[in-house]
Amino acid sequence: MSASLVTVAYIGAIILFILSLGGLSHPETSRRGNLYGIAGMAIAVLATVSGPQVSSQGYAWIIGAMVIGASIGLYAARTVKMTQMPELVALMHSLVGLAAALVGFATYIDPAASASYQGAEKVIHDVEIYVGILIGLVTFSGSVIAFGKLSGKIGGKPLLLPARHWLNLAGLLIVIWFGAKFIQADSVGAGMTPLIVMSVIALLFGIHMVMAIGGADMPVVVSMLNSYSGWAAAATGFMLSNDLLIVTGALVGSSGAILSYIMCKAMNRHFVSVIAGGFGTGGGAPAAAGGAAQPAGEVIPVSAAETAELLRDAKNVIIVPGYGMAVAQAQHTVQEITRHLRDKGVNVRFGIHPVAGRMPGHMNVLLAEAKVPYDIVLEMDELNEDFPDTDVAMVIGANDIVNPAAQEDPASPIAGMPVLEVWKAKTSIVMKRSMASGYAGVDNPLFYKENNRMLFGDAKKMLDEVLVALKA
Ligand code: NDP
Repeated sequence: MSASLVTVAYIGAIILFILSLGGLSHPETSRRGNLYGIAGMAIAVLATVSGPQVSSQGYAWIIGAMVIGASIGLYAARTVKMTQMPELVALMHSLVGLAAALVGFATYIDPAASASYQGAEKVIHDVEIYVGILIGLVTFSGSVIAFGKLSGKIGGKPLLLPARHWLNLAGLLIVIWFGAKFIQADSVGAGMTPLIVMSVIALLFGIHMVMAIGGADMPVVVSMLNSYSGWAAAATGFMLSNDLLIVTGALVGSSGAILSYIMCKAMNRHFVSVIAGGFGTGGGAPAAAGGAAQPAGEVIPVSAAETAELLRDAKNVIIVPGYGMAVAQAQHTVQEITRHLRDKGVNVRFGIHPVAGRMPGHMNVLLAEAKVPYDIVLEMDELNEDFPDTDVAMVIGANDIVNPAAQEDPASPIAGMPVLEVWKAKTSIVMKRSMASGYAGVDNPLFYKENNRMLFGDAKKMLDEVLVALKA
């Protein structure tokens, strides 16, 4: 394929990627968005492989790598559970980062590549390599730690080293100093030492940055690493002089950055303080003493039959799903209950918190999969004021996103985070298995409110029982 044909194919792929991002912004168009993305990627790969930069001797290697990569991808996509998706995404970001770093090293030691740059061009090329490897390795090690935290292999508690901000600053200064040494190096051998020192610091920085982030800030970190992986890909594009990779990387980088901003806003946090770390205790166990005031009082349990009774008598119901609904895979029963109640004339709506579950849009995906109508699935801001007029607020496996301590207790680790005000409904029912805390590790005073009832048990099992009782 000639260079000009490759350029045309690249422009086509870029348009498809932009259409894909547009489609993914709404559940109704997201399938189409995915198809655009697949088509764009297929065109991009085919055009690159058959373009002038690849010689025919390389085909066997490329096809071999594609078969291995596609098999692993297919296997992972088929076997991963919905609750493991965030971990998988984190792992994939780590691979993008690692690829950028490896391309950087390969480009640097490639004699043909280094010989083709002189003077100012060489300086720019060296900066591209240095920055590309830096972003790539920070993304790689940060994403590996994020994978560990999201999968529970590493505790959610923030690791706060003494003088951690000074350590980060010192690391940055060393990276800049070795960057200057790298650019001044007159041979590949001489440039290798600063490159390796920077690589070690970049890896440590990625680990330190994500380890310092508490449970409550993980949503921002997930989208931030998404953004970094885009910038790492863009850096690879610069190193390989590949325009498509630069544009695609910039698209991913900027959309990830916008998502991080939306997440920060949703949690009432500043991006800088997220990076500074330490917010939320993390864990899935009751919060440590000494921080926020511990809620006290009595918990009132209810049975599935009593829950069905409350729902049957209600005119307005708001369902708030959370991570537990994903764990229990209860979305199909939720849909059946919703259909049953709506057939009986009950106004049922869903309230979705921007950080519900373990990844952006987690709940929307599950509800769409269960064919819950989109028009009754509303964002937190669209229905938060309606709780006082709501008869029953049904919380299914959610915890942090309905925690009144965020508003009522300034000492709470999640103070200031906007939450769904379910306690303002006439009755709220919380479905979960125990009194354990949510991802942020903060105890929840909602459970002790007078108008709150607890339906203990696995969400799927309990909702099945509620459905049977409703139909009886
Ligand atoms: P939480 O993690 O706060 O709470 C989920 C609750 O579900 C737990 O308290 C658990 O209680 C319950 N649960 C677990 N399994 C089941 C089950 N089988 N049946 C019934 N209940 C179950 O989830 P939320 O959705 O309320 O909040 C999301 C949290 O995750 C926030 O802190 C957010 O910051 C964080 N986060 C979000 C990300 C995102 O991008 N959306 C990314 C990373 C983190 P029990 O064990 O008692 O059953």
